[in-house]
Amino acid sequence: MKVLVVEDTEDSRIILEDLLRLHEKEVESAVNGLEALEKARQNPPDLIVSDILMPEMDGFEFCRQVKRDNDLKKIPFIFYTATYTDERDKELALLLGASKFVLKPQDPAKLIEIIEQVWADYINGNISVAGPDEEDRTVELLHSDSLNRKLNEKLLELEKQEEDLKQASLVYQSSSEGMMVTDADNLIIDVNPAFTSITGYSLDEVKGQSPRILKSGRHDPDFYNALWQDLLNEGMWQGEIWDMRKNGEIYPKWLTVNTIKSINGDIHRYVAIFSDITEKKQNEELIWRQANFDMLTGLPNRNMFRSSLDQELKKSRRDDVQLALLLIDLDLFKEVNDTLGHDVGDKLLQETAHRISECVRQTDLVSRLGGDEFAVVLTELKDMSHVDDIVHKITKHLTEPYYIGDEVVYISGSTGITLYPNDASDLEALFKNADQAMYVSKRKGRNCYNYFTQSLQDAAQARLRLTNDLRGALQNKQFKVYFQPIVDLKTGMIRKAEALLRWHHPERGMVEPREFIPLAEDTGLINRIGDWVFIESVKWAKHWHDELQYDGQVSVNMSPVQFRTEEQLFVSEWLDYLRKLDLSEKSVTIEITEGLLLNAEPGVIDKLLALRDAGIQVAIDDFGTGYSSLSYLRKFDIDYLKIDRSFIRNLESDKNDVALSEAIIVMAHKLGLQVIAEGVEAEGQARILADGGCDYAQGLLYAKPVEAEKFGEMLKQEKSKS
Ligand code: C2E
Ligand code: MG
Ligand code: MG
Repeated sequence: MKVLVVEDTEDSRIILEDLLRLHEKEVESAVNGLEALEKARQNPPDLIVSDILMPEMDGFEFCRQVKRDNDLKKIPFIFYTATYTDERDKELALLLGASKFVLKPQDPAKLIEIIEQVWADYINGNISVAGPDEEDRTVELLHSDSLNRKLNEKLLELEKQEEDLKQASLVYQSSSEGMMVTDADNLIIDVNPAFTSITGYSLDEVKGQSPRILKSGRHDPDFYNALWQDLLNEGMWQGEIWDMRKNGEIYPKWLTVNTIKSINGDIHRYVAIFSDITEKKQNEELIWRQANFDMLTGLPNRNMFRSSLDQELKKSRRDDVQLALLLIDLDLFKEVNDTLGHDVGDKLLQETAHRISECVRQTDLVSRLGGDEFAVVLTELKDMSHVDDIVHKITKHLTEPYYIGDEVVYISGSTGITLYPNDASDLEALFKNADQAMYVSKRKGRNCYNYFTQSLQDAAQARLRLTNDLRGALQNKQFKVYFQPIVDLKTGMIRKAEALLRWHHPERGMVEPREFIPLAEDTGLINRIGDWVFIESVKWAKHWHDELQYDGQVSVNMSPVQFRTEEQLFVSEWLDYLRKLDLSEKSVTIEITEGLLLNAEPGVIDKLLALRDAGIQVAIDDFGTGYSSLSYLRKFDIDYLKIDRSFIRNLESDKNDVALSEAIIVMAHKLGLQVIAEGVEAEGQARILADGGCDYAQGLLYAKPVEAEKFGEMLKQEKSKS
């Protein structure tokens, strides 16, 4: 069988030809109706398969001509079309004498089946191959209608394409992203205005050039090779790239390159779209700097310092070398800041940062950890005496005068030193060691440096254990309040009792208050312990009042922490408790230290005044050891001064101490305060104090602190004597 294939689209025609040949058909083909008609007349085929939409002569007209030709009109005719899908097209096709109207695309097997079927039907005379009558006008009408419809569709399609193109061009022209189109040889064909504003190159300057002119030189050939590899394999590349502007400036951009391929799969165009990310990079860099550096001094901050130290430790471990960690805390910086202002404080910190940095090598690390705390790592130490030299130099430099504006400021630094791997091998432990050693420097009077030692470590660990034990002490009833009598120096009678806390540690026995009170303060446990001491003390006061008609006072020590703790509403609770016991507020005195009154915050003052207003009396403990300022004694309406033991101790031998004690007594009386002497151990001391007009005395001469029951007995004895 010989088939004539009429099809203008090359791909479709070839596919159809191959299919037919595969099924042993002889094939002739034409690209339009006119050519087909010619070929059919020269060499009539057995069957015709024709497309409809073709140039020169469409399939409908071709079919009409075939059916008018006496030699050809018997040939079975099949339409195979993708564009003419309307029912009216099918009707026209059949009217024209086509045997079959088949829609594209068909499964190849199915198409062959249809062709074979039409052929078989034709042989058997089962289908009509007759064309229309010459006079039939409907064919004309249907054909022109069909053509018109197609024409309209095409017009609409064209309009739509034009619109799309316009839009694409608008985006291209007005986009803030730079765009560049290159040809298959990667030579620039076109760029948009944003390209020009980002790179500085106009279209004329780059047309026909290779995009290589944009290169910054920051990336090595491997980078570009990888880019091309991706582009050719995946059809696209995306990433950050540094390019150079026309003015020589190097800048980062975010680039996407796509390939556009032609129908045969060859690369036709490269389209690059990019945005300038200089600002984004700068922001990222700023954020990074803020996260890792101290803005004031420009030194690495704690964050950065820790990771650098971590690196240094790894290096030291690998190379088997030593390093030293120094923690430097400025002395009295807070005072400078408070008195001279933050501007001076800031400048001072900048200058200290500068001085510390000057004392170390470039390879050492210097950091401001925060506030007035600095850290230094001395790396690759060969000679340990080197550490001493540097710390000595730093300490000395820090004490030199600072000229800030019109001010001359003096400060110093307290330093703690720890060595790797001698003292510890991990970062946390090294920090802890240096901190402990620094604390020792502070305690030793500042402006000095100390090395971490094992005994320091042992003491710190003992403190830690004790702190842990302290947490359970209250619950486990390990506390007891002792009472020490305070006597009237004129009569020798007990008028008061100071409540002194005792801790019976299950393993260590009696622990001194001076050892555990600071731990209780550091952990905040002092609040609950203090409440307990108060309640215990007034309970006993009430007992002695009821049983022994004791009308003296109990005196309770209070920590500054109790006044500074915000959530603690101890004042109202304490007063409630006194009311519940029906005990006069006059029965209680609280002992505070001078430090609490200096620069007292409003919250502290409020609590103190609330106690005062309720009628509880206040004594200043350890007077003479601190600021010894008399002005605020008046201001806060203080009732008692307790002269510190250190003045009493040498009364019998040191005339100065006698003069001082007498002066304190006279001034206190002038201000309306009464005076209690602490730590009176000898008759001679008592006599001097009595002669000086001192009101009360407390000390081993009379009694040591005793258990409450014992104190009760002392009161009873005294009563029986009088
Ligand atoms: P403080 O308030 O100055 O108490 C007086 C200290 O001197 C007591 O030491 C007492 O035992 C001791 N002492 C009394 N007479 C003499 C003497 O003649 N010679 C000598 N050398 N010492 C004498 P203690 O009981 O060890 O208490 C020490 C400190 O602990 C107290 O000093 C006080 O500041 C604090 N403290 C004691 N109990 C409490 C408490 O319940 N709460 C608070 N916050 N602190 C307390
Ligand atoms: Mg006291
Ligand atoms: Mg005292």
